[in-house]
Amino acid sequence: MAKTYTSLTEIKQDLQSGDVTVEGLVQNYLSNINKYERLNAFNEVFETEALQKAAELDRKIKSGDAIGSLAGMVIAIKDNICYKGHVVTASSKILENFTSVFSSTVVERLLAQDAIIIGRCNCDEFAMGGANENSYFGPVKNMADESRVPGGSSGGSAVAVQANMCHAAIGTDTGGSIRQPASFCGVVGLKPTYGRVSRHGIIAYASSFDQPGPITRSIEDAALLFQVMAGPDAYDSTLARVPVPRFAEQTAVDTGRKKIAYLQEVMDSKGLDSEVKATLLQTIENLKAEGHVVEPVSFEYLDYVVPTYYILTMAEASSNLARYDGVHYGYRSANAVDLVTTYKRSRSEGFGTEVKRRIMLGTFVLSAGYYDAYYGKAQKVRKLIQKRTNEILEEYDFILTPTAPEPAFKIGRQDIDPIVTYLEDIFTVQASLAGVPAISIPVENNSQNLPLGLQLITKAFDEEKLLNFATYVLGLRKS
Ligand code: GLN
Repeated sequence: MAKTYTSLTEIKQDLQSGDVTVEGLVQNYLSNINKYERLNAFNEVFETEALQKAAELDRKIKSGDAIGSLAGMVIAIKDNICYKGHVVTASSKILENFTSVFSSTVVERLLAQDAIIIGRCNCDEFAMGGANENSYFGPVKNMADESRVPGGSSGGSAVAVQANMCHAAIGTDTGGSIRQPASFCGVVGLKPTYGRVSRHGIIAYASSFDQPGPITRSIEDAALLFQVMAGPDAYDSTLARVPVPRFAEQTAVDTGRKKIAYLQEVMDSKGLDSEVKATLLQTIENLKAEGHVVEPVSFEYLDYVVPTYYILTMAEASSNLARYDGVHYGYRSANAVDLVTTYKRSRSEGFGTEVKRRIMLGTFVLSAGYYDAYYGKAQKVRKLIQKRTNEILEEYDFILTPTAPEPAFKIGRQDIDPIVTYLEDIFTVQASLAGVPAISIPVENNSQNLPLGLQLITKAFDEEKLLNFATYVLGLRKS
């Protein structure tokens, strides 16, 4: 039985001692991909290419040539991240046969450090969803219980890591799409600060929110991938010119005394599952026992975060998705006879139900007569949420919340009411609206053996502090 590695450090040790080869690693992942095909985590596997790159890397290692910091790291990418010469679909019929003409900055940076990309992962169509049930290629199943969703929208990426089909994956997070599936699948998910990681070559959903980030089995690997991907890029003018922390090989564990806030409204929220709440309370107790200050604070906007997030992201999506017109690229209806029918039929046939719902609602909130009442208002509320979040983070080092109000739910539930699914995002969208970094860590499994994650949020550009403390909290829970 091939071994499941928690971190790249372990892989590197075995590569060095000759216990394993990169080709052997890739073969092992490929066999797991095969074994768990029914989970539907991948839209495409780059089998031949991955094996070939592995053999090249093995040759380099053997001859002592210089190798990148990610040598031995076999990753999967969410299928909304462009990789030159490879199909990228955003799990939509409208892009089913579209091949990337250039690579995203994140892919270029990962490849430059010798990471191997093994395939592209299933996700919600255009990253719109929280259950991975909105994919044109069908739902993804959670390995912990195959009748349940893996979360979304980066559900395929999270399952690929969960089932050891790759060592790590790259997802994107607009309102929780890295953190929530990580929580549902028992892995680590980091959403960096908005403006940290380039969006160049990422298929846009809501541009003032979207951030790529890592999904991994250890915080150490999340730090490493983050470090490689982050930093200014000439192709994305929203990136801040803030130096990227250079993490040591091993994330140093910070044991200093910290001030941590938990939100009273979160504790009182009706939809909070009792075991999720118990996990949070236990962690609070453990932190207090270690001498940290852990206090309740009031975040009076909790009821407004989901509506604000959805108004703004749907507005941005309606604008971003205007480019799929049946003319420039992507799917064109066979029933189109003139320009107007090309637009209408290509879009009607090419987009799925949830994407259409969001384009229509987004267009509505931006339309004359409703703009001030919805879009303008939501922008103002976003400012208030940002201001209050930053105020809390001035006083406290971290905000601690559950990542999601409940564990992975049953496949098919969202068909009943999309609003129920939107409300699942209640704890993740605060950091997205505020633009601050947040991480989901797998703390334990519930009585049904379903993974539960906790979320830590900190100030913009303080990922180093976040990763350090997350390592510490995970250590506390596991000890
Ligand atoms: N569930 C949220 C949504 O549907 C988050 C998606 C995301 O982060 N891409 O918008």
